[in-house]
Amino acid sequence: CGIVGYVGPRVDGTALDVVMEGLARLEYRGYDSAGVALVTPGGSIAMDKRAGKLANLRQALESNPPPESSTAIGHTRWATHGGPTDRNAHPHRGGADDEIAVIHNGIIENFHQLKTQLLADGVEFRSETDTEVAAHLVAREFAATGDLTEAMLRAVQWLDGAFTLLAVHAGRPGVVVGARRNSPLVVGLGEGENFLGSDVAAFIGHTRMALELGQDQIVTITPDSCTVIGFDGQPASATAYEVTWDA
Ligand code: GLU
Repeated sequence: CGIVGYVGPRVDGTALDVVMEGLARLEYRGYDSAGVALVTPGGSIAMDKRAGKLANLRQALESNPPPESSTAIGHTRWATHGGPTDRNAHPHRGGADDEIAVIHNGIIENFHQLKTQLLADGVEFRSETDTEVAAHLVAREFAATGDLTEAMLRAVQWLDGAFTLLAVHAGRPGVVVGARRNSPLVVGLGEGENFLGSDVAAFIGHTRMALELGQDQIVTITPDSCTVIGFDGQPASATAYEVTWDA
């Protein structure tokens, strides 16, 4: 139900703080679970996800603090497929070494066919969500291409329905890739740091320069770049604007 992504310059607690603060600002939308994933400089993904209030996740992170990181994604879930449990909370992992983490708002209408195919290919599932197929597809396409943007571009070609998706890869600190169809995704443009949010409330405390993505677009953010393409793989433009209201 809420999505936040962050890439920044510093390898400290910033990314986690930014994402947790963004999730708190999105709490008004309602949710039943929350989770975060961080890409560590050492090339792994640290993740925690909990059913219930953000306070549960915060407490879990305090008692078991993740490594410092400059790259993070965070999610609040409003369950549509699979009950509100820790297992079904996002992020969901994909890949032989769990190298991919994905979060999702919306519904992947054709997840059942995709899941049947992936299961037949020997992929193991760890949740009852529609979302998990996207994590496995991004992982599979990353294995084929070695590029996270290209992997997302190929993965979305398989998906029907409404989705905002964010993905990170353990070996790609400093990169978050997002995609949207029939579901909102906004970029927040900072100085040496960039943000993604399901709405501007996710990053309004940090920047007021925003970029509204169009339908069927993919965005790749790094600390100092933001690149938008369409689901056709062609470069696309998105409109920048300044958020003038107070969140
Ligand atoms: N359909 C997904 C799920 O049930 C995402 C729900 C949401 O938008 O939070 O896990």
